[in-house]
Amino acid sequence: MKVHEYQARQLLEEAGAPVPPSKVVENVDQALSAFDEIGGQVVVKAQVFAGGRGKAGFVKLCNNRDEVKSAAEFMFSNRMVSNQTGPEGIAVKKLLIASAVDIESEYYVAVVLDRAKRCPVVMVSREGGVEIEEVAEKNPDAIVKQWLDPHLGLLGFQQAKLVSALHLAEKEQAKAAGKVIRALVEVFYKYDCALAEINPLVLTKDGQIMAIDAKMNFDESAVFRHKTLQDMFDPSEENQAELRAKEHNLSYIALDGNIGCLVNGAGLAMSTMDIIKLHGGEPANFLDVGGSVTKDGAIEAFRIILADDKVKGVLVNIFGGIAKCDTIAEALIAAAKEVGFKVPVVVRLEGTNVERARELLKEANIDALVPADDLTDAAQKACAQVA
Ligand code: GDP
Ligand code: MN
Repeated sequence: MKVHEYQARQLLEEAGAPVPPSKVVENVDQALSAFDEIGGQVVVKAQVFAGGRGKAGFVKLCNNRDEVKSAAEFMFSNRMVSNQTGPEGIAVKKLLIASAVDIESEYYVAVVLDRAKRCPVVMVSREGGVEIEEVAEKNPDAIVKQWLDPHLGLLGFQQAKLVSALHLAEKEQAKAAGKVIRALVEVFYKYDCALAEINPLVLTKDGQIMAIDAKMNFDESAVFRHKTLQDMFDPSEENQAELRAKEHNLSYIALDGNIGCLVNGAGLAMSTMDIIKLHGGEPANFLDVGGSVTKDGAIEAFRIILADDKVKGVLVNIFGGIAKCDTIAEALIAAAKEVGFKVPVVVRLEGTNVERARELLKEANIDALVPADDLTDAAQKACAQVA
């Protein structure tokens, strides 16, 4: 689960990291009042689930009301396209108006889960602000890492090593940077983060250490433990089809291809996508209806797949184990009546109650249905239908 920068800033602030004062706004008038309230120079920042905002023109320093007005108008009326969004970009619904700081230098601080080492790793760099991926690629030595014990967290000597990598001139600044790193680690542990990042952490011209951008991702499976995170969840920023699927206990991930997939079981869904690709097709989605799928769940799954304009054909691949083939057949028939199949639907059913399922489908006599004998046959037929 992702949160906005303003929410990540709030968690950081609560953990004791210094963050410039700011306000979240939802229209131009509110942006102007926020500017009046904060005073001085401000930075207007689009609140979207993607980085690279600076380069895209969605982080703007403003010195007066006119500048705030035009920055806010621009951001609310243009979709933000950056190297982290698709070409279609993202609409901006909220802005952060933050007190601006005079920057002396920019640093990078992050905590992520190192899956190979099975523990969190803290990374810092003196080359913050710019794209850290580029630093990692061209100058990996500029990133200093410390791996943390999952139970003990950040130990004193590790904090000292990380801070010294930043080469801060003053003792007070080093102390302040240490406090920020500790706060970030604390948030990471407390809220079951997958990623907690400050980029940039800055040293201001007057010698202050401040976090001026923050990004956090949380382990979805742990969100139920955190009321704070549940309250921060912003459904309007999520993929609407994925959200609908979640409400019906379906695992759905939208992809770019044109063959919709309806499969039971995550492993089978993966192999279905593989075999589609093997025969030259592109899946439009990953969809696992689950082992214990109901008729209603399966109908909803069809609705979600068929609502996607990109879908030119569907491949239904069901292995009846706990899920019964006849349940899926009934759902297919109901979906054909209710939603209507405008595209061919290739069906491969195998397992529990498959004979009954085949009878049902035959009786229903649906034009769009294309029966398949096995998985290879199904994949070939699906690819041929969309070619
Ligand atoms: P991102 O591009 O989405 O990562 O957005 P950031 O919040 O990191 O802002 C991008 C860049 O804008 C930063 O690296 C800074 O160089 C600049 N910036 C952001 N806030 C301020 C500020 O308060 N003062 C100054 N001078 N520059 C800022
Ligand atoms: Mn940033």
